[in-house]
Amino acid sequence: MYKDFKVDGHIHTFECGHAYNTITEMAKAGKENGMELICWTEHGPGLPNGSTFSFFNNMRVIPPEIEGVRVLKGMEANILPNGKLDLYKNLRNKMEVVSASLHNATFPPQSKEENTEAVISALQNPYVDYVCHLGNPRYPIDYETVIKEAKKNNKIIEINNGSFYIRKGSKDNCINIAELCKKHDVPVIVGTDAHWSGAVGRFPYARKALEIAEFPEELIMNTDPQKLLNYLEAKGKPLGQYREDEAVDIFDDFDNEEEANA
Ligand SMILES: [Zn+2]
Ligand SMILES: [Zn+2]
Repeated sequence: MYKDFKVDGHIHTFECGHAYNTITEMAKAGKENGMELICWTEHGPGLPNGSTFSFFNNMRVIPPEIEGVRVLKGMEANILPNGKLDLYKNLRNKMEVVSASLHNATFPPQSKEENTEAVISALQNPYVDYVCHLGNPRYPIDYETVIKEAKKNNKIIEINNGSFYIRKGSKDNCINIAELCKKHDVPVIVGTDAHWSGAVGRFPYARKALEIAEFPEELIMNTDPQKLLNYLEAKGKPLGQYREDEAVDIFDDFDNEEEANA
């Protein structure tokens, strides 16, 4: 049995057009479910109703902590058929966390080789931290090739709790992915993929899958927020940027100038 999880690696808000709560409600619900950190990986602009450039660009107006929970502001980028992501160039250095996923609207399932190749390109992208819901049976993937590529590129693999009931048939794939991550010493992050506040911080199926795979606790990023923060910091992610902090400096200068003119 693992320690309690304190991190949710994957949540959405009603911004994306198919989820139902605000970020404040999601953070509050996370807190109630024992979360200390949640990754707000909103859907990238490629999805129908996906958020705009300015939505992601302006996330710095939100403080790092909401309702007592550290909220990482990021994107679940879409892997596109050309192997690229819909992560705009000018946003790459502004996201605290970036995940990447295959979604039907932006990458209709292709052959095993093509799906695998697409995931590999995402894993080779320096801005990506983890790839999500790989267990989806609609996308046949050569898991071992992908997990080895994750190891090579210092990436994390997501085990998606929502997959167990949204992407039916994911269970055995998720267990297999966990076993391969264990074999190749690749860390995992569990995400709820919550589109509703009541789901934040609840991971019963993903935890069970990890237990079945006898997955080592030290490779699970969810047991301590610092594990994920250290990983992101080492990659140079812009952690904790907050616009109001920038204003403080402006006023300091202003005050000094006033004194100088007095
Ligand atoms: Zn997704
Ligand atoms: Zn998602």
